Amino acid sequence: MSNDFIRSKIDQQIREGLDQRTIQTRFPPEPNGYLHIGHAKAICLNFGIAREYGGRCNLRFDDTNPEKESSEYVDAIMEDVRWLGFEWGEKIFYTSDYFDFLYECAQKLILAGKAYVDSQSQEIIREQRGTLTRPGQNSPYRDRSPEENLDIFRRMRAGGFPDGLHVLRAKIDMASPNVVMRDPVLYRIRKAPHHRSGESWPIYPMYDFSHCISDSLEKVTHSLCSLEFENNRELYDWLLTTLGLFPSKQTEFARLNLKGAVLSKRRLIHLVREKHVSGWDDPRLPTLRGLRRRGYTPESIREFCARIGVARADSQVDYGLLEFCIREHLNRVAPRLMAVLNPLKITLTNYPRDQVEWFDLPLDPEDPSKGSRQVPFTRELFIEREDFMETPSPKFFRLAPGREARLRYAYYITCRELLRDEQGEIRELVCEYDPASRGGNSPDGRKVKGTLHWVSAPKAIRAEARLYDRLFTRDDPEDMPEGKTFLDALNPDSLRVIEALAEPALAGYGSDSRVQFERLGYFRVDQDSRPDRPVFNRIVGLRDTWAKISGKKPEFEKI
Ligand code: ATP
Ligand code: MG
Repeated sequence: MSNDFIRSKIDQQIREGLDQRTIQTRFPPEPNGYLHIGHAKAICLNFGIAREYGGRCNLRFDDTNPEKESSEYVDAIMEDVRWLGFEWGEKIFYTSDYFDFLYECAQKLILAGKAYVDSQSQEIIREQRGTLTRPGQNSPYRDRSPEENLDIFRRMRAGGFPDGLHVLRAKIDMASPNVVMRDPVLYRIRKAPHHRSGESWPIYPMYDFSHCISDSLEKVTHSLCSLEFENNRELYDWLLTTLGLFPSKQTEFARLNLKGAVLSKRRLIHLVREKHVSGWDDPRLPTLRGLRRRGYTPESIREFCARIGVARADSQVDYGLLEFCIREHLNRVAPRLMAVLNPLKITLTNYPRDQVEWFDLPLDPEDPSKGSRQVPFTRELFIEREDFMETPSPKFFRLAPGREARLRYAYYITCRELLRDEQGEIRELVCEYDPASRGGNSPDGRKVKGTLHWVSAPKAIRAEARLYDRLFTRDDPEDMPEGKTFLDALNPDSLRVIEALAEPALAGYGSDSRVQFERLGYFRVDQDSRPDRPVFNRIVGLRDTWAKISGKKPEFEKI
């Protein structure tokens, strides 16, 4: 595990006497959408630190926006965190469980003269906040007495006012150089049912108020959050100090940005609702569900998070790194089979009609202990159309008229003739095989340059193959020219569905299996498969551009 600035700081604290068993972190998703790869970074960081140091990490739902949240999201988030490989102990935490305590804290602040009810509109409050260069202005309600504030606040809580009529604000400093400290709003009226507390609360705490107090109640020692909360740290500390609560400490780190993807929940919701993708688990999405359906393994995502590390500087990570991680993992674990995506029929005229030879072929040529499968060979076969060229270019070494090539593990064949359809397209190749080359071995030292994958025509399984490309055509779909939105960057060819032909052994691989099709890439058996019609998602092709750049092989640590 790389030692990032957060872990270095913790090591320092331990040297200075921190008992590492007291290290407490939390992962605090708002249940208003599905988790994405950016959340995976935060999950691996928070749960990872707890595990490495022997501390604890809470899963806490930060559920203070009833209109946008639901228990559907709560359930999905728990499932995704588990799928990634992390556990949170017996108890699940919810900010909504602290509503009573938060309400008490607010009353305490009021009585101490540190909070007041403002009865101006949101717009005016915003206006009076000032800017970085201009100080804010005091609200005319700022000097209400604690008694009056308490009375109005209690009536807010009792449901006596409509949305927006009053808010509770901290009384700090309207001239503070930190705009966050200019009497931030702590509570607002929102008469909306909550997925857990139902109708019992007509007021809801703001993030800045509830987050630090929730951390403190859970004795969180290291509250790790993304960089956009840097300015909020002063308020975080102010509230805990003023209320005399456990002094949790916030540390900020840079969010993950992935080139060619959008990670904002708002954007993801838009793509799903407007049906630009098939759902939250569309294999083109960077959601954990999408990645999982595509065929990514939890190991590969954890490895990705370990490699990107944790820093304070914002960065854009290349999608290629994610692909590198899954390729490396599947290269070790996925069985290798054969399939043809763009079939061209060949007939071996000197091979006995109706004969079926069964080859016992290894599932991993580099590791015989992974076992083998039976692959049928017949007179009629399919090869990949791209493996034949009528007029071969100088660098093309595969099949061509009159040329000999090897069918992987099977025989040498020579192309004798082309058959065309009415449109003049090549329909079939007429070939001969050399019986002496059984196993694909040279009978007499004769060399061939091309080795092709193949499937038996009568024995092949027809399968649907879904070939995915990037969802967006630009590295940063958020940064669009004038008048365009991220939707204009959608790649119209991000999904191609084709009919593929696969060797029969494939029938033995159920939903969620991952295989390599030789020379084509890694594929996952999709849940849309039916017994008579398998469906495959291509996870990633075989060609790796990333390994050359980064060198280091990943560990895929067990957790
Ligand atoms: P979004 O921008 O997608 O709406 P969010 O920050 O509102 O994300 P939360 O549910 O509040 O989503 O996030 C839970 C935790 O995950 C927070 O601690 C947040 O900092 C972290 N997180 C969210 N997105 C990323 C990201 N891209 N990189 C790293 N951490 C992230
Ligand atoms: Mg958030």
